[in-house]
Amino acid sequence: MNQRLALPDGVQAALLISFDVDAETMWTSKDPRNADRPAVLSHGRYDIEVGLPLILDMLDRHELCATFFVPGWVADNHPAAIEELHARGHEIAHHGYLHDGMHGVDRAHELEVIRQGIVALEKITGTRPLGYRAPMYEINVHTWDLLREEGFLYSSNMMDSIWPYRHGGGPQPLVELPVQWMLDDGPYYLVSNHPPNHRQVYAPNTVVEIWTDEFRGLHLLGGVMTLTLHPQITGRPSRLAALERVIDDARSYTDVWLPTHGELAKACLDGADD
Ligand SMILES: [Zn+2]
Repeated sequence: MNQRLALPDGVQAALLISFDVDAETMWTSKDPRNADRPAVLSHGRYDIEVGLPLILDMLDRHELCATFFVPGWVADNHPAAIEELHARGHEIAHHGYLHDGMHGVDRAHELEVIRQGIVALEKITGTRPLGYRAPMYEINVHTWDLLREEGFLYSSNMMDSIWPYRHGGGPQPLVELPVQWMLDDGPYYLVSNHPPNHRQVYAPNTVVEIWTDEFRGLHLLGGVMTLTLHPQITGRPSRLAALERVIDDARSYTDVWLPTHGELAKACLDGADD
């Protein structure tokens, strides 16, 4: 059975800021033919060329460290950008290798992909990643066992809670830091031709309102708000400014913590062991 984990003493609520650095794999994993569409791939290049540098400067201004979920392919193909994240103190976590969806994939194949991703990230950081977010949050029933076998401390994929919890089913602790599509930048801002994906683009102020209202509710309930962001989506000037307003709002409370995913997972587990 899953076991809800308390936040550390003195922390009423937490805001987790994560960026999925999908780069070109966001597009090639949706349709391999996108490898031959330079304009489509240029969405992904924005991650590396513009989005990440702007985000790093913003995080520095706020003296914040965030968690960056990086597909192994991105680490292998853009090592300088990912090294920069690591050098500036941010957490690098696992986000598949080619960003392929793992739905229905057998255990052996999924293990191979997870190991490929670990090798790529280890080349940058020198250590195994603590956390795993599946591309498109696609988890199989055997995924928890694989994560435990590979020494992961946490997953950030599930939408069944507003509190961190410990997954049942194994002796080795595996923490869940829950997510939600309403806290992902994709549904508000992502537009593309291939695949056709013409959503209404939301005004950043509307997104600020949705996220700050949700955070107020979570704060009353002692919850955790995990933002799933993408440098190629949120790394636009107006959207980054909106994110700063969400950060400022969270920091207006005296009992809110803005840790990395790894820091929160460790702190919650330490508290549970007391
Ligand atoms: Zn992704």
